[in-house]
Amino acid sequence: MMAQYLEIKAGYPDALLFYRMGDFYELFHEDAVLASAALDITLTKRGKHEGADIAMCGVPVHSADGYLSRLIRKGFKVAVCEQTENPAEAKKRGSKSVVRRDVVRLVTPGTLTEDELLDARNHNYLAALAETGGAAAGRLGLAWLDMSTGDFHVQPLNHGDLSAVLARLTPGELLLPDRLTQRPELFEVFAEWKDRLTPLPSARFDSENAKRRIETLFEVKALDAFGDFERAELAAVGALLDYVELTQKGRLPRLMPPSRLRQGSVMEIDAATRRNLELNQALSGGRAGSLLATIDRTVTGAGARLLASRLAVPLTDAAAITARQDVVAYLIGNDLLREELRRRLRHCPDIERALSRLSLGRGGPRDLAAVRDGLSEAGAMRDMLGDQKLAALPNDLTSVLQDLGFHDPLVDRLKRALSEDLPLQARDGGFIAPGYAEKLDEYRALRDESRRLIAALQSRYAEETGIGNLKIRHNNVLGYYIEVTPTQAPKMPSGSDAPFIHRQTLASAVRYSTVELSDLQQEIASAADKAQAIELELFEDLVSEIGGRSDAVALAAGALARLDVATGFAELALQERWCRPKVDESLAFDIAGGRHPVVEAALAKSQEGSFVANACNLQDDQRLWLITGPNMAGKSTFLRQNALIAILAQMGSFVPADAAHIGVVDRLFSRVGAADDLARGRSTFMVEMVETAVILNQATPRSLVILDEIGRGTATFDGLSIAWACVEHLHEVNRSRALFATHYHELTTLAAKLPALACHAMRVKEWQGEVVFLHEVAAGAADRSYGIHVAKLAGLPGAVVSRAEEVLATLEKGEQAGVLTRLADDLPLFAAALAQERHPENTDSGFAEGPAAPSPVEGRLSEINPDDLTPRQALELLYALKKLS
Ligand code: ADP
Repeated sequence: MMAQYLEIKAGYPDALLFYRMGDFYELFHEDAVLASAALDITLTKRGKHEGADIAMCGVPVHSADGYLSRLIRKGFKVAVCEQTENPAEAKKRGSKSVVRRDVVRLVTPGTLTEDELLDARNHNYLAALAETGGAAAGRLGLAWLDMSTGDFHVQPLNHGDLSAVLARLTPGELLLPDRLTQRPELFEVFAEWKDRLTPLPSARFDSENAKRRIETLFEVKALDAFGDFERAELAAVGALLDYVELTQKGRLPRLMPPSRLRQGSVMEIDAATRRNLELNQALSGGRAGSLLATIDRTVTGAGARLLASRLAVPLTDAAAITARQDVVAYLIGNDLLREELRRRLRHCPDIERALSRLSLGRGGPRDLAAVRDGLSEAGAMRDMLGDQKLAALPNDLTSVLQDLGFHDPLVDRLKRALSEDLPLQARDGGFIAPGYAEKLDEYRALRDESRRLIAALQSRYAEETGIGNLKIRHNNVLGYYIEVTPTQAPKMPSGSDAPFIHRQTLASAVRYSTVELSDLQQEIASAADKAQAIELELFEDLVSEIGGRSDAVALAAGALARLDVATGFAELALQERWCRPKVDESLAFDIAGGRHPVVEAALAKSQEGSFVANACNLQDDQRLWLITGPNMAGKSTFLRQNALIAILAQMGSFVPADAAHIGVVDRLFSRVGAADDLARGRSTFMVEMVETAVILNQATPRSLVILDEIGRGTATFDGLSIAWACVEHLHEVNRSRALFATHYHELTTLAAKLPALACHAMRVKEWQGEVVFLHEVAAGAADRSYGIHVAKLAGLPGAVVSRAEEVLATLEKGEQAGVLTRLADDLPLFAAALAQERHPENTDSGFAEGPAAPSPVEGRLSEINPDDLTPRQALELLYALKKLS
């Protein structure tokens, strides 16, 4: 056995091997040591291997899922090795033969399908990253799929986008060529995901191979059917398919053809922004307090997953956004329909996941019931929608109506076929309803009848022998037998014509059998065997019927999820008094009465006063708002609420405002809240600067930028200068719609020089010597710093507070103001230099004279394309440049 174990284990060096032995999965050697520590179970020994004890631990098969999920969560992979024949078959091959075993599945974080191992409300993506062209010029391709739903996507990307894309996707497992993990410039990105990486040999990422695989799998002649994939995308798709086949031992789940996410079709949000805006997760960790938790009114797992993915990828296509809004608006206007839909959705099981288990041969009777119940509700909802005035139905709802489809015959069959109480596994039997299959009913009747005959037999024997407490019992060793107490045993007839054959004498009982009883037992056993065989056959039949319609069933499941999200949005808008934003191609950003949904909800819950709504209009002549005000006045809340409103609007949701007009935002940038990143050895200030650099390098006029307290992490003048320069750059170069919160009141002097900069301040009132925050955003600059008052509120000793007041007064009298005015006057030169750097073609900026002519080195450099050079030419060029300089 150990030889067999070692042979199998050799095929799975990176995984823990669950080796099936009877009712247990056993682990040996190093696997046992690792697993016993991870699971906190006893480590024992069994026999010796090459003189040393063999470490061993085990988990019971019936509760294996719980252990599996803990191991997977801790980053292990598990190869599940089953017995592929029963001991009797092994014996037939030879008395010493070991039962044949084989790995039936490799369980990894990205390939789970069991409900127990998955979070019902979250997608679990398996992703693969591939690269072509090598380092610098190389392009990346990322493919991802959800094994449990069949969703399959791919997109090309540049190295610089990787972090943002992974943050959007949060894959459960990421496959990548091992050489990519060695790339210094990617170290940091991968460090974030290190527990989820599965490096594979680079040879697995071969785009030619991939092409063939995709063409066979999706039965297309040429890939063109899917659009023009880049090589890196193909390679990623191929590696993904390979891996699924490897882990599922050849069984592929039902997969949609890979659909391509076009660049620019979704609002890009980088990892830091997602984190800081607490989209999926609060900064404190966990879902509570996140935007997702606040807006989630879905009632099904599939709906919740769809909502999460919509939040991850807000759209940029105004028409598609409007189409989603139409559905929400329609449902808001139809209380009866909406409520009835939601009532029905609540009864919808997770068809998507049931379907994938069935298609992987891992499903059971309860999965059939999930399909039955889900489709049955889908049918009812289809009828409800069909009863509406079809002409008035928004397009997206019409497509929901179509996708819900017509499944009545299948539902009807499943309803007739399945009994009420269903076992987990088909082999446990008893799940086919009486009246569905005649033959099955016959065998069941035979079995039941035989049981009745046995009961009758017991009374007869009791009577014949005069032993009142004679019993017929059953166990796995003897089967049915007659049992009497030892004191009664002498009464049993024993002559040669007596029917009783002695089987066993125990301290407490004496056991017998009879020919009659054995015959009956035979009948029962064979009836039960036959009944089971029929049930299994019927099960396979039903599974294959569903399999044959799996595309239509999956469409219905997708439609249900969309309905759930839309009715959830409608419910949310009604409950929270949200409005429908106007979303178009303009550069508007005009919010009236905007609120922060999470802060508002928290305030409502704690009853600590109500949320103060604020307007924000970033139109042309005031596209950059500078917001001043003391700490705690509500600056960050205001910044974030506007970013969240943009995200919600582009998801297709209504927004927490009285009215809103938003020109599609292509990218959202933020620099808010400075979470220390000491684990990576960076100071708060460093993190802040890195994030700011990304924004200033990438933001465009279509982007929305929110910047909070830039420069706070360093000395005052240092910080002020950096903040100053950033405002200028945003205004002159990026020209994005932006909100810039700062406690540097000095920056307000910039308003005089930058035409699109508008100063706003958080209103604060002084009342009986205390500061009262009104949380109102008003035009103009804050008139003085209330920092000292806040310090007082916080309980700083009185002497310190009054001393600070003195110092402030001196400083305010001092030279500082004069210096700043001069700096503002000097500004045009500085701004022009910046603008020049970005837009050399733009010489009429009105700020300064035209640019200096390019130097000979620059001239030479502008002529070449590094991609076209061989290493040798590059070296020669370097020498030439050196000479020129
Ligand atoms: P700042 O960024 O100016 O330091 P915050 O935005 O962190 O201030 O706000 C501080 C607190 O004030 C928040 O936690 C919230 O409870 C409250 N607050 C902020 N904005 C509002 C508002 N518009 N209405 C009511 N309370 C608010």
